[in-house]
Amino acid sequence: MKRILLSTGAKRKVLVVEDERINREILFHILSEEYEVICAENGRQAVDILHKDDDSISLILLDLMMPVMSGTEVLRICRSEEKLSRIPVIVMTQDEEAEVSIIRAGADDFIKKPYNMPEVILARCERIIELYEKKRLIDSAEIDPLTGLYTADFFFEYIRQMEKYSDAEMDAVVMDIEHFHLVNEICGRSEGDRILKTIGLMIASELSGSYGIACRCAADTFYVYHPSSADYSELAGKILGEVAAESFEKANIRIRIGVNKNVDRNDPPEQWFDHAKMACDGLRGDYTRQLAYYDSEAHDRQLYHERLIRDVDSAIVNRDFVVYYQPKYDISGDVPVLRSAEALIRWKHPELGMISPGDFIPLFEGNGLVQKLDRFVWEEAASQIKKWKEEYNVALPVSVNVSRIDIFDPELESRLLRILDKNGLSASELLLEITESAYSDSQERLIEVVNSLRKRGFRIEMDDFGSGYSSLNMLTTIPIDVLKMDMKFVRNMLRDEKSLKLCELVMDISRFLNVPVVAEGVEEKAQLDKLKAMGCENIQGFYFSRPLPAEEFKELFG
Ligand code: C2E
Ligand code: MG
Ligand code: MG
Repeated sequence: MKRILLSTGAKRKVLVVEDERINREILFHILSEEYEVICAENGRQAVDILHKDDDSISLILLDLMMPVMSGTEVLRICRSEEKLSRIPVIVMTQDEEAEVSIIRAGADDFIKKPYNMPEVILARCERIIELYEKKRLIDSAEIDPLTGLYTADFFFEYIRQMEKYSDAEMDAVVMDIEHFHLVNEICGRSEGDRILKTIGLMIASELSGSYGIACRCAADTFYVYHPSSADYSELAGKILGEVAAESFEKANIRIRIGVNKNVDRNDPPEQWFDHAKMACDGLRGDYTRQLAYYDSEAHDRQLYHERLIRDVDSAIVNRDFVVYYQPKYDISGDVPVLRSAEALIRWKHPELGMISPGDFIPLFEGNGLVQKLDRFVWEEAASQIKKWKEEYNVALPVSVNVSRIDIFDPELESRLLRILDKNGLSASELLLEITESAYSDSQERLIEVVNSLRKRGFRIEMDDFGSGYSSLNMLTTIPIDVLKMDMKFVRNMLRDEKSLKLCELVMDISRFLNVPVVAEGVEEKAQLDKLKAMGCENIQGFYFSRPLPAEEFKELFG
């Protein structure tokens, strides 16, 4: 064991706590050939160093009589705190009588002052460190009897000790057998054991000669601490090959491998493997891949998403969601006329700042939370229409976005009608935008819902038109009142012939269906002019205005 640990070539760290400078220097001189020596001038300094230390100090040499905090007090602290109690302490004393009381107080050995026998000091230090390290390893039962690999406790303890002496690039690798319980059930437990044993042997042979180590962490999960390597697919292939050769034909084994490359030593070892495990778990059910790498950015994104999901309810209560309004202008005459507005949600997060809907709407569409937000926006928009009427005598219709999952809400229509009723509005004042791709999801249901809403007087705008895959045939059967041309055509129409042609095509379709078009994302006069020339009469975009809070929007009433 000692040989393996030392083979990485680094020195163990020893903390010398001694107030007299000359003594410190002598000890430093004696010890620094074998050890990395750090010094403290009194007990307080020593305790500070120990509390900051991340488990890298292997031994404390402690003087008893010191100012500020005595060695006896340091010893008491070391023996009362779990983390510090793992470090051996040798007390340095002139008082031969004190031996027994020192050992009773928790010291492991003592060295007499003055320091005139360097070899004795070195020998004592070495012996105590070795004893402690062996004890720590033995404390965590070493070997998994089935595979001959380490147990998880021992594995992590071993890594912690290796880490003191090595900074080589290492990977955390997690291997997992898919549906292992089925293997046990179908082939029998002893066959399951034989498979685990084979995999254990393969991993051990892969590691032989390197200073990587491995354990069996749970029934069918192996952890490998592997010197950084570019390619684990070869290892996976070898293991599968061997398992096949051992004719476990009935078992039909599949192994998943998750790799956390070049582990971050600022994090604890358990976390390196948690991350590798996440990559491994991500492969569950994916029969096209057996190897995945942990991606810290993806993980951060996932944590961010979880944070957003957690915060939705309180954000609604605290009114951190705010509705902005973007005007739509009719440009058919000489002077553009404000005709309506689109309600667009914003999240003013108290800690994360302003979050745009592109960052949370797709996420909330995936888990149903979008319905809560949509209802909030509908209520807000309706009460805003009412306010504008009351305060400015302006009756401006506002369109709200209706998500694809709202379509499946059996209460959709009654909810909308209740909102209108509460604010004294008619259905023609609250326009409903439904994205084109929702139409291809579930045509029949959508047509039924849209027909029913239109009968009630609502007008339906097909949002992002051109981005989905509506067939011309479908378009003729779908009841809509307005097409909103997908923004990307407008964005590129001046630069790219194809986008320009697609804008023209949308205009042709609108004439064929006999519905007006709103062009979104219009930022420049040249775009507006081209669209107008094509016959497009309604424009929404930064050219006129960005989405604005209601307070600022009212300035547009003129
Ligand atoms: P959308 O419904 O197609 O809304 C138009 C988006 O285009 C808005 O982005 C708007 O700010 C942006 N936009 C308008 N004019 C211009 C322009 O000239 N240039 C550029 N570059 N962009 C322009 P926003 O507000 O970030 O919303 C993005 C999408 O998030 C919306 O696309 C909609 O799909 C969704 N969304 C926003 N609010 C809601 C909501 O309350 N409910 C639901 N379900 N979805 C919403
Ligand atoms: Mg929209
Ligand atoms: Mg749109």
